[in-house]
Amino acid sequence: MKDITIDQIQSLDSKSKAALTKCGIKNLFDLIYYFPKRYIDRKNVTAIRELYSILKQDGEIKKEYNFIVKVVDKRSVTSRNRQILNVTFSDDTGFINCAWFHYASFYNKKIQVGEQYLISGKPSYRGKWEIAHPDYQKIKNEDFEGKIVPFYQIAPEMRIKGIDSSVLEKIIFTVLTEVKEQLTDLVPVHILEKFKFPDFKSSIMEIHKPSNDFSLINSLKRLKFEEFFYLQLLFARRKQRNILRQSKFKISDKGLLFDRFYDLLTFELTDDQKKTIKEIYSDLRSGKVMNRLLQGDVGSGKTIVALSAVMLMVGSGFQCAVMAPTEILAEQLYLEFKSYCKEFEINISFLSGGLSNKLRDEVLNNIANGVTDIAIGTHALFQKDVLFSSLGLVIIDEQHRFGVMQRGDLIEKGDAPHVLSMSATPIPRTVTLSIYGDLDVSIIKSMPSNRKKIITKLRSDDELNKIYDFIKSELDKGNKAYIIFPLVEKSEKSDLSAASDQYFKFKENQFKDYDVFLLHGKMRSIEKEEVMQKFKSAKNGVLVSTTVVEVGVDVKEATVILIMHAERFGLAQLHQLRGRVGRNSIQSYCILNYSTGIGEESMERLKVMEETSDGFSLSEKDFEIRGPGEFLGDNQSGYSDLKIANLFRDRDLLEMARKEAFQLLSQDFNLSDHQSLRDYMNKKFGEVWDILKY
Ligand code: ADP
Ligand code: MG
Repeated sequence: MKDITIDQIQSLDSKSKAALTKCGIKNLFDLIYYFPKRYIDRKNVTAIRELYSILKQDGEIKKEYNFIVKVVDKRSVTSRNRQILNVTFSDDTGFINCAWFHYASFYNKKIQVGEQYLISGKPSYRGKWEIAHPDYQKIKNEDFEGKIVPFYQIAPEMRIKGIDSSVLEKIIFTVLTEVKEQLTDLVPVHILEKFKFPDFKSSIMEIHKPSNDFSLINSLKRLKFEEFFYLQLLFARRKQRNILRQSKFKISDKGLLFDRFYDLLTFELTDDQKKTIKEIYSDLRSGKVMNRLLQGDVGSGKTIVALSAVMLMVGSGFQCAVMAPTEILAEQLYLEFKSYCKEFEINISFLSGGLSNKLRDEVLNNIANGVTDIAIGTHALFQKDVLFSSLGLVIIDEQHRFGVMQRGDLIEKGDAPHVLSMSATPIPRTVTLSIYGDLDVSIIKSMPSNRKKIITKLRSDDELNKIYDFIKSELDKGNKAYIIFPLVEKSEKSDLSAASDQYFKFKENQFKDYDVFLLHGKMRSIEKEEVMQKFKSAKNGVLVSTTVVEVGVDVKEATVILIMHAERFGLAQLHQLRGRVGRNSIQSYCILNYSTGIGEESMERLKVMEETSDGFSLSEKDFEIRGPGEFLGDNQSGYSDLKIANLFRDRDLLEMARKEAFQLLSQDFNLSDHQSLRDYMNKKFGEVWDILKY
């Protein structure tokens, strides 16, 4: 499909063009993908008279019904300075009065006495039948008009220009008639045939002018499949490139270093940890470039796995780079790595943003001439002036905090090093396939056995004083506590004030005999770091924080986390926060405070937290309730901006598309036999696709 702007469409008048452009519909693609919000089958209508027996039977009208009616009368009245439009519709069996309280003058122009409409809404009965703001679509009786009527969402900008659903339907149909021959297929024919999918042109026509249920559903399926297909093609290409590429950093055996490291471990690894280390080992010796994602709940022990990978590589004489999203986390990793490596002759460098020029030069030198075995830092590690002598493995901790594009950059560093990404955000499989579809995945599900289950309790505002007493009793044992405040109305200012107001109150009242610290998003990272360090080294203490308290920050003595207004958080986020405690063998607690009077639904959702400690099943639940947005985040956009497909409802199509995409590329890696598809991929994904050119 060529790029055709709305302006270039000849069959549209300038008024419609202006209206569409105002609504963000800028080109042909936008327009033909402006799908109806719903459809109503003309057969699925109710006679007005039938409403009486429905009312009698059910006591009330519980759902929407559709009616084919004519306008018999219409009156525009003004009440309290507001214009109201009343329209009386009738079929041959009765009357319904419909009222429009908003945009009355717009609808007054649209709805004409004598015309026929399909209207849809939930009637109520007060001596006569009434519907407020029904959906309506003008219809004609002729058979060729089709049985299924589309209803389009009408944006305010459209209404201003006089466009309602009926007008938009006409506009789209006019345009489709003009351009339909240009709606050519990109999905290979053999795939369409395999699934009995219609071609692109018929699918799009069907969406806007359905002929029957079956073709409509099949067309929708096909277009959703297509949406998934392109993204999976990209992943397939990335993944297969790795398979084709020989690694310069192949190891031949486990090596002495790894064995010594393994022997020195003071605890038994969990089965999942062992399995993951085996998978990594097998990648590293395969001769191919490893590109693996390690998913494991907070506290599941990913660091040991990362260390094992590093030992395997360093033992074979290669350098490793370990990257964390923030300075605090990078430093924590550095200290952890150092304490594990103190028995060995291994050089670890910490490349922090805070280094003096002289020190920085020294570190860069060591990295460049191979003195450094392991370099740890933030993304500063990947600046141009950081040159490695033989970088064999890149480990990215808390991967989900980096964008997919950034991931691309990192992989291009050096001579195609192995990459191990680690993420503590358990995400559903379909989301994994849509963001990390090019990676092999290892999962650590089980927790180390010495871990006690965190006790989670819901508590209302009325019980706050009791909770503070409980926290004090924990502090008296030498433990530490977090108290987390949510973002208030997305404004950082009020978010800050909620936390900081409380901080001062706590300091003066409830916790006046203890150390109280404050952490919030307005602090510079160096200040945040200072606070975290103070909290870490304090004898006991309370950290009052907004949600900025870093994922992955490890304060072993923290045994209580109190989350205020927990109803405002997603389950996945609550779970992440809960992971701040329970980081050793002491019993830990997560208290979810909720505001009295929250809805039943919110309560149900929070109860799931009490019952479930498994991050993966929580994330599936969150996915069901809140959709994929929670997981994708801003960083990932561009990769997952699905217009019509839905990651949750359409997961079958995603799996199908993935299989076909991988198969297609395994036979035709450069898409040489599918030129137009290749051109499209080049345009859609630009560099990301191009980078992979040989
Ligand atoms: P995360 O997966 O969140 O990065 P860490 O790697 O920081 O988790 O591990 C959390 C804690 O559990 C660390 O203190 C670590 O030493 C400890 N740990 C890791 N694996 C085990 C194990 N198999 N048995 C006991 N403790 C473990
Ligand atoms: Mg970690």
